[in-house]
Amino acid sequence: MTTRKIETNSPEETFELGVSIGKNAVPGQVFALLGDLGVGKTVFIKGVAKGLGITEPVNSPTFTIVQVYEEGRLPFYHFDVYRIADVEEMDEIGYEEYFFGNGVCFVEWANLIEEIMPKNTVRITIAKNLDKGFDYREITIQGEI
Ligand code: ADP
Ligand code: MG
Repeated sequence: MTTRKIETNSPEETFELGVSIGKNAVPGQVFALLGDLGVGKTVFIKGVAKGLGITEPVNSPTFTIVQVYEEGRLPFYHFDVYRIADVEEMDEIGYEEYFFGNGVCFVEWANLIEEIMPKNTVRITIAKNLDKGFDYREITIQGEI
């Protein structure tokens, strides 16, 4: 499996990395987006949305498990499964239509639903390293993109 490590030193750089992922995304791609609170997951996702050609504001789907954006080059399905109590809740929303459909899925807190994540999921992990500065982030991309 391919692993790439990218270092950013500002929110703008992380955003631009998201833009390039969004521009290159293909139908049926599923990404797991991992990292602690405040690390830059939303910054990254906003970049992906821009790269897909979405102009409406993108925020974390706080009250729903999935937020759907149909405006871009491909449908964009943004999941936040943090509040899921049981993986059956994913069945209830019909997650397979999204994971195995023609759009691009990003799943925050995918570790909570590991058992249903597709085998070809691309894992993107954002981490701080305060020794390298407050705005430093190491972004690890595991899988084929
Ligand atoms: P999360 O969604 O992971 O909880 P956010 O994207 O909402 O995190 O917030 C990340 C915060 O970190 C923002 O305030 C952003 O400006 C700041 N930040 C500083 N440096 C970076 C960087 N290199 N990449 C992304 N965000 C950064
Ligand atoms: Mg967030």
